[in-house]
Parts: sequence; C-alpha cells; structure tokens
Amino acid sequence: MCNSLTVLGTCGAWPEAGRAASGFLLEAYGFRLVLDLGYATLPRLLARCTASEVDAVVITHEHPDHCADLSALCRVLLYGGGRRDRVPLYCPTGVLGRVQAMEPTEDLHEVFEPRPLPGLYQVGPFLLNGRLLPHHVPHAGVRLTGPNLSVAYSGDAGPDHVLGELATGTDLL
Ligand SMILES: [Zn+2]
Repeated sequence: MCNSLTVLGTCGAWPEAGRAASGFLLEAYGFRLVLDLGYATLPRLLARCTASEVDAVVITHEHPDHCADLSALCRVLLYGGGRRDRVPLYCPTGVLGRVQAMEPTEDLHEVFEPRPLPGLYQVGPFLLNGRLLPHHVPHAGVRLTGPNLSVAYSGDAGPDHVLGELATGTDLL
C-alpha cells in the first residue's frame, strides 16, 4: 500500500455546503490514523475505509469543528459491528468531556482507549510526539515519525516555537 494523506475536510468553524470541517486520514505502512474529526468528516472517512479499519485517532482539541464527528465514529463502532479492540485515542484535556456530553449514555471508553496529550507514544509504525500549543482551550500538536515518513499536524495553534520544533525536518506540515 502506498502512503497517503486524505483531506477529509478543511473548513474552519463550520462545514460549508458540500464540505467538512477539519479532518485528515493518514494511511502509511498499512496503518490508518485519523487526525481530527470535525463536523461532517465521518461520511468522508467512511468513503475511504470502514470504521473498524481505523487503527488510531488523534484529536487536537475540544472545539467541535475538530472533534464533533468523534461522537459519530463512536456510534459506528458501537452499533456498526465488526470491531473488538478499543481504538487508541490521543487527545488533550477537554476532548473526552466535550464529546461525551453530546451523548452521555454511550460511554466513549467502550470503543476508545484514551491516552493523554502531551505525551510520547509508539502508535503503530509511528513515534508520536504530542506537545501543547497555544489556543483558547488545551490544544496539542503532534509529530509523527515513521521509518521513512514524518508528518507534523496542528489544529488551531497560534504562533509558537514549539510548532516549529514539531515541524522541523518533517516531510509535511
Ligand atoms: Zn479551535
């Protein structure tokens, strides 16, 4: 399989007609990692793979244009069948509470295995380095380093030297 990055959506604040808010699917080394799941991104993700084929999710922060469809992904995983293991979910403080509040009766922990950002993790073939970046709420950017591919990603961060540190030398920011 070729490495690829699929843009699920790029709208800021709300999804415009026919478009979606922030979301990306990184497919590399046979591993599928989702970066943010804002409004209207889930149908676009499901056009690329099934929910049960998602290996890990990174959510940068609790604003709904970056995390609203995590609730929809939770529902697919709960009711769509086909998945047994929980999906690792890397996110800073605030995301779980915000998304859980959308549907309190469906426990996110049933389908996701939350791991806090900032932090350093091995995520499939990637070393994930998550650092806090400035925003109105707790917000994390990540650097993903694979065998011959490196990607840095941030949601809504303001200017900060840490973003430069995450991105330095990567193939794609
Ligand atoms: Zn934001």
